Amino acid sequence: MTTAQPRTDLDVQPTPLALLLLGREADPASERGVDCPGDLPSPSDPDLVARARAAKEKLGDKVFVLGHHYQRDEVIQFADVTGDSFKLARDAAARPEAEYIVFCGVHFMAESADILTSDEQKVVLPDLAAGCSMADMATAEQVAECWDVLSEAGVADQVVPVAYMNSSADIKAFTGKHGGTICTSSNARRALEWAFEQGQDPATTKILFLPDQHLGRNTAVRDLGMSLEDCVVYNPHKPNGGLTAEQLRDARMILWRGHCSVHGRFSLESVEDVRARVPGVNVLVHPECKHEVVAAADLVGSTEYIIKTLEAAPRGSKWAIGTELNLVRRLANRFAEEDKEIVFLDRTVCFCSTMNRIDLPHLVWTLESLAEGTLVNRIEVDKETEDFAKLALERMLALP
Ligand code: SF4
Repeated sequence: MTTAQPRTDLDVQPTPLALLLLGREADPASERGVDCPGDLPSPSDPDLVARARAAKEKLGDKVFVLGHHYQRDEVIQFADVTGDSFKLARDAAARPEAEYIVFCGVHFMAESADILTSDEQKVVLPDLAAGCSMADMATAEQVAECWDVLSEAGVADQVVPVAYMNSSADIKAFTGKHGGTICTSSNARRALEWAFEQGQDPATTKILFLPDQHLGRNTAVRDLGMSLEDCVVYNPHKPNGGLTAEQLRDARMILWRGHCSVHGRFSLESVEDVRARVPGVNVLVHPECKHEVVAAADLVGSTEYIIKTLEAAPRGSKWAIGTELNLVRRLANRFAEEDKEIVFLDRTVCFCSTMNRIDLPHLVWTLESLAEGTLVNRIEVDKETEDFAKLALERMLALP
């Protein structure tokens, strides 16, 4: 990976874009910064595993390492707990003795951990360039502009925002400020039901769903029985979101035009192809996939649901999984001895490139820096943003 290469003098003067990709500059227009201070160990250093182990041992209970399901195996081996982003943030809050929370995941996840942990705990992201393309698709400025559009159309007071966990702290705070809630892929149905009950008249209440259009659409149509026509897509790159006031008035779900660049890659052809290749296969996909993929699948659910389903699957069963490749590969290895055949839904490689930025050199650099008493790559959400984001998260925790 680019940021894991030894720092050498470049032959050519790097462009600002090249600097961004190299993790040496900041991107103020994005939810993530990409400065990466300090010298990284070489990825070819044969002692990386021993160095990570030694630094972690030196830190003892002062450090708690969180590993998202989509992380590489070389990183997951050092995680104290694994899980999805919300579970990990709660796990960190339950370990108040840990001064340092090293989040092996992406930027919005580290922000959520900072929001949910105490002020004494410091959340660290080993590579600041580990953003999330989906979270980056909804900026605070764009969402504020969208609210103005909804106000001008005369519908803002009927709209309840629901933000997916995979959003920046700014978007979570916007949601909290405007009476909305956060959801995960496990509780999206309950979040939408709750949101529709918040309006004065549930029949005219609308939801602004941020930032993943697919999770919003799939939940509305599959779980709440709405039609595709009840949903409109707000495109932040078009004047008025590309929608007329009449379309906004008629809609029940206003879906932000965002998507996951990993799950968005699966197609109807992927499903048809795997059914032809693997007779008797069960297709199990994440609800961040496109609606036609979800409609063609046998089962749909969050990463935790996918893991539980495979744990309970009978011996000899065959599964095609539509989610991030690191997790699918790990599950395939784990269940091979139980004679469960697990294949990746798509023929092409589909890692989350930003998740993969957290590699062993970055983890070693982070742990050794902390062990030497140098706090690096801290993710800290400002107080006002934190308070409103927490309000939205608390509404989620109180969902029936
Ligand atoms: S898998 Fe998708 S939603 Fe998750 S971090 Fe990567 S780009 Fe973001």
